[in-house]
Amino acid sequence: MARLILFAVAVYALVWLLRRALEGHAPSGGGRAEAPRARLDAGDLVRCAQCGVHLPRSEARTVSGRAYCSDEHARLGPKAG
Ligand SMILES: [Zn+2]
Repeated sequence: MARLILFAVAVYALVWLLRRALEGHAPSGGGRAEAPRARLDAGDLVRCAQCGVHLPRSEARTVSGRAYCSDEHARLGPKAG
């Protein structure tokens, strides 16, 4: 019977250690706080289909699903070749 109790304690200790390991070794109170990374709105950049320059989507001219940097390039259309 004592072995059963010992086994239960061992399992409990193992679970406790695993939980500690999963939670990380963060010291209570302090330590380096994870600074939230400044989000770059790179997803809002589009590439001109004519000259390849990158510009914000809000400044781009979109013609038939393609983005252009200027009205002139929108008129010319996508670069051939
Ligand atoms: Zn362009």
